[in-house]
Amino acid sequence: MSRPLELVDPRSYTSPHKGWEEVTIGTSLGGGVQLPIGIVRGESDGPTVLVVAGVHGDEYEGPMAVARFFTSVDPTYLSGTFVCLPVVNPYAFEAQKRESDAAYDGLNLARQFPGTPGGSPTQRLADELYRFATELLGPDDLFIDLHSGGTRYEFLPMVGYHSTDDTTEAASLEMARTFGLKRVWRVPESPSSTKTYNGTVARAGIPTLGTEMPGRGGAREVDVESLVEGLGNVLIAKRMLPGNVESVPSEVGTVTQMVSCNASGLLHVCVDLDEEVGSGDLLAQISTLRGDTAEEIVAPVEGNIWAIRRFASVRPGDLVFMIAKA
Ligand SMILES: [Zn+2]
Repeated sequence: MSRPLELVDPRSYTSPHKGWEEVTIGTSLGGGVQLPIGIVRGESDGPTVLVVAGVHGDEYEGPMAVARFFTSVDPTYLSGTFVCLPVVNPYAFEAQKRESDAAYDGLNLARQFPGTPGGSPTQRLADELYRFATELLGPDDLFIDLHSGGTRYEFLPMVGYHSTDDTTEAASLEMARTFGLKRVWRVPESPSSTKTYNGTVARAGIPTLGTEMPGRGGAREVDVESLVEGLGNVLIAKRMLPGNVESVPSEVGTVTQMVSCNASGLLHVCVDLDEEVGSGDLLAQISTLRGDTAEEIVAPVEGNIWAIRRFASVRPGDLVFMIAKA
């Protein structure tokens, strides 16, 4: 039996409990769409961790890691509540696309939060998801949003957190450094970051972290495993699971520079991931269909290449690189 997401209260389950159920979202649109939600209630009390993936429908490491981690959690040893939603945007996942399918509204869910109750399908979805997370979680809990490069990008594995008020940001940074990935990304406030799921939840005073994985449309075993390990690390650090976290030397809150293109055409990338570049270095060329150079993209700052567009067709405004500033 399926019920609306808003009627699900994971902490109302008698502990110990572990199970999947189907919830319905978008019921106001007539019928709605079904999604799996996994809930584990531990033997003893403790914080609540909510993990979501599939905000973008072409990112697959997160959904695989969420299911694998859920399988591994034994409620006997858990203090608190673990909740997971492996794919929160079915409109995009079913279409195998980053954005919701055009048949719904074609919108990027990660630009719609905190949502619009009477809006289009993706805007209503954002509203339901935002309310679920903010009603479930408080300052002692944790929200995790798993992303990747999808079909068009390749990212170096990284864990990020949003700059918010001091207390929430400090708690988020501590969890980000515990996760176990070397690269820790501080996401500054920007017009786009303030409309993401984790950005808006963070601004509600809830510690959050997000991850980026390589993507390229795949889900390498090594990347899925490192997410599973990271989830275990943060639950151990929050004393929800027994054990010790092996400390990984991590960078502290690196800020990044996004580099977009101005021309349309075919993209030829001249640098590699993790390469150090100097300000003014040639990063890529865009050519016309006649082979003429339409644009040369140079590095606006010195730094390390953290993400590269791998889809060769570009249009003006497309993101091409992310550089971690030196
Ligand atoms: Zn994403």
